[in-house]
Amino acid sequence: MRYYSTRRREDPVNFAAAALTGLAPDGGLFVPEAIPQYPAAVRSSLGTMSFHDIALETIKPYVHGEIPDAVLEDLVRQAFPFSAPLVGVGDRLVLELFHGPTAAFKDFGARFMARAFSYLRRNEERPLHILVATSGDTGGAVADGFFGIEGISVTVLYPKGRVSPLQERQIAALGGNITALSVEGSFDDCQALVKAAFGDADLRKRLVLSSANSINVSRLIPQAVYYAVASGRAFAGLTDPDGAATPRVTGADRGNGAAVDYGIRAGQQVTFCVPSGNFGNLTAGLYAMKMGAPIRGFIAATNINKTVPDYLTTGNYQTRPSEATISNAMDVGAPSNFERMAAHWSLEEMRQIIRGVSVSDEDTRKTIAAIHDRYGYFLDPHGAVGWNAADNLIGTNSITAGPLAILATAHPAKFAETVEPLTGPIPVPPSLQQVMDRTIHTRIIPADISALKEAL
Ligand SMILES: *Cc1c(COP(=O)(O)O)cnc(C)c1O
Repeated sequence: MRYYSTRRREDPVNFAAAALTGLAPDGGLFVPEAIPQYPAAVRSSLGTMSFHDIALETIKPYVHGEIPDAVLEDLVRQAFPFSAPLVGVGDRLVLELFHGPTAAFKDFGARFMARAFSYLRRNEERPLHILVATSGDTGGAVADGFFGIEGISVTVLYPKGRVSPLQERQIAALGGNITALSVEGSFDDCQALVKAAFGDADLRKRLVLSSANSINVSRLIPQAVYYAVASGRAFAGLTDPDGAATPRVTGADRGNGAAVDYGIRAGQQVTFCVPSGNFGNLTAGLYAMKMGAPIRGFIAATNINKTVPDYLTTGNYQTRPSEATISNAMDVGAPSNFERMAAHWSLEEMRQIIRGVSVSDEDTRKTIAAIHDRYGYFLDPHGAVGWNAADNLIGTNSITAGPLAILATAHPAKFAETVEPLTGPIPVPPSLQQVMDRTIHTRIIPADISALKEAL
């Protein structure tokens, strides 16, 4: 597959170059020259294929000629020792994307990217050095994804005192090839330091530097997998990728105990509601749809940082500074993946398949409380934005047919300080409990490039 910059349809590169470079030299994002199609035989068996087989079929055309099938098969097995269950909650479905080691959907992209990098650099002598600035979630997923991967070391920069204790442990308790730097400054300072490091000629001579942020095409592609798995199952009239013929129901309706209808009928396409910030996750869903997964369309759910919903309404794309909310992984005023969406789909095309909805913190909190009260199910603030956005559209009859699945992008225990006052104690999964018991190895540095250079 050849990849172009979103800004220039010349000088294509292969998958390895697109992945290892991250950002195109002209500042654009790499996009495949054409989004491949599932072969007919795959499309008609998405409902019954395993998660790993669908991962293989989804990713294969993007890496064709560069990663052999047998290697890719191994790679997806190691990257995804967990899956994405589709569960029934009330009258809709929730696609749980938080069963990976850091309990957020970023595990899918980061774990694949790490193993792909390692394979693509198998003949290089010099180690690769990855620099990431994080406001919380990305750093944990990238650190975990690359932990123990040969030939690659990672340095994560995070703002001191501004990430949660759990997030800090996910970033700074691994050790080994992962170095954590606690920067005396803000997230913007961390980002500026990473930028300065990439621009530093002396450092570039000493180290082979790369980044791992959410615009990397090797993080995007594996995220198309769970859309294909979930929509395939639902279209076949089945639901759970674990093989059950009906959804795993988490908490019955406490109101009347009546049988619940999730809207699943064989032959019906799914609408996905995607809590969005940088729009990588939603772009991956668009790729899955274009490849031929049975998807009706999407709801782009944002918090008050509603650049994309406003664009869909007005046709004007107007970025703005981000505002802080309780769904902070989506506090993005200039979504970095929008350029990639716009390279593939025109405004009119987007309007046909995506509806944008913005949700306030107040409604997010009300939704967390109401869903727990009614069904005993815990939503995290990001998933709750998705749930409430869908409520808004159902209220206006804009969603009329087929099953509706909300993407739960993080485990609620990651945001306990927001969720527990509304619901009471959240059961903590063993993976997160283990993290809380770890000790932190971090080094505090001032927000200063010479301090970063010395640390590297
Ligand atoms: C990163 C993140 C998002 C936003 O995803 P994008 O791909 O940036 O739109 C939503 N929820 C959680 C929990 C996240 O960590």
